[in-house]
Amino acid sequence: MQHIPITDNHIHLSPRGLGVEAMRQFERAGGTHAIVVCLPSWTMGVKIEKASDFRRVWEPTLRLVEQTNATTCVRAHAVLGVHPAELPPLAERMGLERAVDIIKGGLELAALCVEEGLAVGIKSGRPHWQVSDEMWEASCALMRHAMELARDVRCPVQLHTELSPRCLEDVGSMAREVGLPPHRVIKHYSHPHIDDFRRAGVFPSVLCIKGAVETAVQQGSDFFMETDYIDDPSRPGAVLGPKTVPRRTLALLEGNEELFWRVHVDNVERTYEIEVDG
Ligand SMILES: [Zn+2]
Repeated sequence: MQHIPITDNHIHLSPRGLGVEAMRQFERAGGTHAIVVCLPSWTMGVKIEKASDFRRVWEPTLRLVEQTNATTCVRAHAVLGVHPAELPPLAERMGLERAVDIIKGGLELAALCVEEGLAVGIKSGRPHWQVSDEMWEASCALMRHAMELARDVRCPVQLHTELSPRCLEDVGSMAREVGLPPHRVIKHYSHPHIDDFRRAGVFPSVLCIKGAVETAVQQGSDFFMETDYIDDPSRPGAVLGPKTVPRRTLALLEGNEELFWRVHVDNVERTYEIEVDG
């Protein structure tokens, strides 16, 4: 097996799922680095009443990242923040204004965690489903706030958004207004047509379904690879497994060594300002 660092840019670990065992599977398949993204409050059984409750949502993610680093050779890093689907039920329960304040506070706590070295990025986004106009505007304002925080603490945002060309343009121009450089604006769950993202000024994290990486490599190395593995035992097979990114990389490595080095090392180091050692 070739020695090249291999990074999954968006994976989840849950205490109710495989947890660190998923990272061992990743490691056995050739994976070396993982960006572990927090799960939404409801999957962690936390009822949000105030901003600091998000700390309780993130705690299991942080613990599993720590355990991964202590017990495997995989280097894991956390991305913390607030999923766009948190806003509607919270607004229903306590009114839109209060819900927005709480989520803003949650995003600010995530930025603080980046400053403290507990996380390397902020998760945010806006609904990729139909919502009311006021909900839409509030969601866009929250996403912009996340970008401002990311700019201030020099980290990326990982965004859950729609995937239309219009959305990419929107997100790209919002980032330009805020002053967040394109390599720090990560579109999670991306299709592999990376030229579209380059034009919009957004950085794709390509979902590694069959054929996707083959398409992406035709257009260069400006992308990350991800599984969005959710580590939920009640939904086996609902997503790609933890071995997918190393397997796809190693299957295509011959003749593409330099390109995959840029994907798994250079892009990761530049975006997250972390060291990826080979
Ligand atoms: Zn995810």
